[in-house]
Amino acid sequence: MAYTFALETLGCRLNQAETAVFARQFVTRGYRLIEKSAAADLCIINTCTLTHQATSKCRRLIRSIIRRNPSVCIAAVGCYAQVAIDELKTIEGLDYIIGTADKMRLAEIITTPVKQPTPVVVTRRAAREHFTIDVPGLYTEHTRANLKVQEGCSFVCSFCIVPKSRGPARSRDFDDAIREARLLVAEGHREIVITGINVGTYNDRGRTLVDMVDALDTIDGLERVRLSSIEPTTIHKGLIDRMRQDGTLCPYLHIPVQSGDDSVLKRMRRRYTAAEFAKFINDVRSRVPNIGLGTDVIAGFPGEDGVAFEKTKQLIDGIPFANTHVFSFSARKGTGAYGEPDSVPGDVIAERSKILHRVGNAKKKEFYRDQYDALHRVLFEERDALGRWVGFSDNYVKVAVRTSDDLSNRLALVRVNGVSGPDAARRTPLVATGDLVDVEDAGVPLAGRADRDMMAERTRVEKQPPTGERSAGSGP
Ligand code: SF4
Repeated sequence: MAYTFALETLGCRLNQAETAVFARQFVTRGYRLIEKSAAADLCIINTCTLTHQATSKCRRLIRSIIRRNPSVCIAAVGCYAQVAIDELKTIEGLDYIIGTADKMRLAEIITTPVKQPTPVVVTRRAAREHFTIDVPGLYTEHTRANLKVQEGCSFVCSFCIVPKSRGPARSRDFDDAIREARLLVAEGHREIVITGINVGTYNDRGRTLVDMVDALDTIDGLERVRLSSIEPTTIHKGLIDRMRQDGTLCPYLHIPVQSGDDSVLKRMRRRYTAAEFAKFINDVRSRVPNIGLGTDVIAGFPGEDGVAFEKTKQLIDGIPFANTHVFSFSARKGTGAYGEPDSVPGDVIAERSKILHRVGNAKKKEFYRDQYDALHRVLFEERDALGRWVGFSDNYVKVAVRTSDDLSNRLALVRVNGVSGPDAARRTPLVATGDLVDVEDAGVPLAGRADRDMMAERTRVEKQPPTGERSAGSGP
């Protein structure tokens, strides 16, 4: 009988890309992917260490799975496993702790899912070389697929643990990345998200992200290419040019600003001033009308006084961000900001975080309202809790329409005529609503979707209790 395995992902889009590779690795070895972690023979948790909240979520998740079923073989892999072996070792029942350098060969390390008397620890210094990835990701959830092209970061921002957990910046072999993209498209994915930690620094022997976008543009059947989060100082002019043209690159940028105050930005070791950031955004907006924008911002970095916070709030308020991810500062051991003076009290951080959330939500609504009467080309994914078909426009507006047609993985033109949600009770987010103007094609079946439907079917039969945890990650 085949072993079963389940996957849990916390943290960033790159973790999602890597989890998809784990999925393929184990499926290829004959394992059966199931949805419920506590019901599996093997559970892999792709961990995150960005904030204290992220690490405590990892620990809670591991403990909750072990509590539900002590016989699950359970592996904590990735960023948190890389930097906190001792913390993880204290969790009774954890079987594997596998760091970032070895996680891509997970299926070679865990040959049989059996419980271990003490955790098997596999960690070493992160690699420094360019890399390849042997198998393509297997995506069961979205019509979009992530393409990992870059790993690590050499910028060393003072709040960020990533250079410790993932090592210095390095790029994937160009042809190897394009090969995976072709396979993903052959499996029915019409949208690919170029993913990494610091993707703007991608460089494989002189070939840059612009070359990558151009090469992806030539793949038959690939309708859309998106960039995941990209550092403001690394955005090549050629990328903006391609967003203006009629190619596949979507007009959306997620650019972390982190603060709107120059002295805080300096202490964070960011490489721009607030004015430079705002100017860059203005230039991009003038060149790419109706571009979608997202950002990350940190509340309560050491030295952020009331005036500095107000500047941050104003900067966010002055830009039409559709997505604002707010992080409450927490000092990570091993980062430059650890032990920094002028720390901001916890209750002040919480309050500022709440305010930024409010501003971010209002900006999102504003941007969605601005879409009124716009004609959007939407790639539809699935029905929501209200029975509407939902998908995303090229500028990453979530759009919902009512129709009896099956729109799964289909492109359609939608005239936006309203906004609905968010509705916490019905678990529906903010969406732009509209009417179908034209459905372009008959759709492309997704290979991974078939796996997911099969998983759901089996899970219903197995009737296992849910873990109560959700996978992380939103936004392109
Ligand atoms: S650019 Fe800065 S924040 Fe982003 S991963 Fe690198 S060190 Fe971390």
